[in-house]
Amino acid sequence: MLILTLESSCDETSAAVIKDGRVLSNAVASQIPIHARYGGVVPELASRNHIRDIHPVIDQAIAGAGITLEQIDGYAVTCGPGLVGSLLVGVETAKGLAFAYDRPCVGLNHLEGHLTTVLLDLDEVDSPEFPYIGMIVSGGHTDIYIVHALGQYTLLGRTRDDAAGEAFDKVAKMLGIPYPGGAEIDRLAANGNPKAIKFPRPMAHHDNLDFSFSGLKTAVMQYTEAHGMPADDAALADLCASFQQAVVDVLLLKVMRAAKTHGIPRIVLSGGVACNRQLRKELREAGERDGVEVFIAPASLCTDNAAMLGAVAAHYLGQVDLDHFSAHDLKARGNMPLGESLRNPARVHN
Ligand code: ATP
Ligand code: MG
Ligand code: FE
Repeated sequence: MLILTLESSCDETSAAVIKDGRVLSNAVASQIPIHARYGGVVPELASRNHIRDIHPVIDQAIAGAGITLEQIDGYAVTCGPGLVGSLLVGVETAKGLAFAYDRPCVGLNHLEGHLTTVLLDLDEVDSPEFPYIGMIVSGGHTDIYIVHALGQYTLLGRTRDDAAGEAFDKVAKMLGIPYPGGAEIDRLAANGNPKAIKFPRPMAHHDNLDFSFSGLKTAVMQYTEAHGMPADDAALADLCASFQQAVVDVLLLKVMRAAKTHGIPRIVLSGGVACNRQLRKELREAGERDGVEVFIAPASLCTDNAAMLGAVAAHYLGQVDLDHFSAHDLKARGNMPLGESLRNPARVHN
């Protein structure tokens, strides 16, 4: 089955072609340079650029897979959560294509894509068995789930305030690093001493699986107020390394606790912050030490892209009853609880 997946929930416009779990192509147009000058995503600009980019990105994905649109058997698109104006572009485009070519189209949850990326047939990483512990660390979420099967998730814990990626981006902004600063902090931290500054490990001592990152951000701010901004590259590297280590420590502590408490020796790390090299390295080490299998997608599939939807897309398209199906009423949903991909009430005509 050939599936075209579309993703436009935030500031990446992406289209991918998936065949039987294999990624044939994955085209991504990032708007980072457009939003960087404003220090964050400007929703109106994001929508307009999605409109500009979506068809070229689809053409690129189709050409990259060496196929034609007529060959696509089904469509899948991110319906939420995300910026409604951005989501609308992907949703309406997918509906248009599904209508024009008379193919089914399912609306998917963006987080479900992050959580199940490693279920694709990838060269770089094996797929885990069910159930597994899935941690999403991204720009908007820091959640830990049990993934029982595709479509069956139990939330175990989440951030009570800022997401991990948001903390990276806000600290970067404070230090004068352009948006989104997560990757740049990762790069700078590589030359720093993670023990140089003692930052708090928020909620590490709380006997739960929740997180809080806003206090850590404040601690960095108070540090720069007390000691001044880093005077040179070495001081900046130490600050970045120390902050990053605090985030990595709490993420590791909680996700390893989740695996242990629930007796599930398999962890999947996903979302943009899963690109972080220190986090990837330490989670692999912790897994080895404690006998827990660790699965992390290649970095290019951790930040937003359409290929990450491939596994859920196949799952839900396989459940579609073609005689009672229409994509006409698929809607963009700013808020969309996990597990509602197929249950989007407007998805099926009766
Ligand atoms: P959500 O998935 O919650 O809707 P999003 O889609 O905006 O949010 P992603 O694209 O999954 O988020 O991830 C983007 C985030 O990942 C940004 O906050 C970015 O700074 C962060 N990030 C990317 N690379 C790294 C890295 N190497 N180290 C730390 N953070 C990183
Ligand atoms: Mg993004
Ligand atoms: Fe995301």
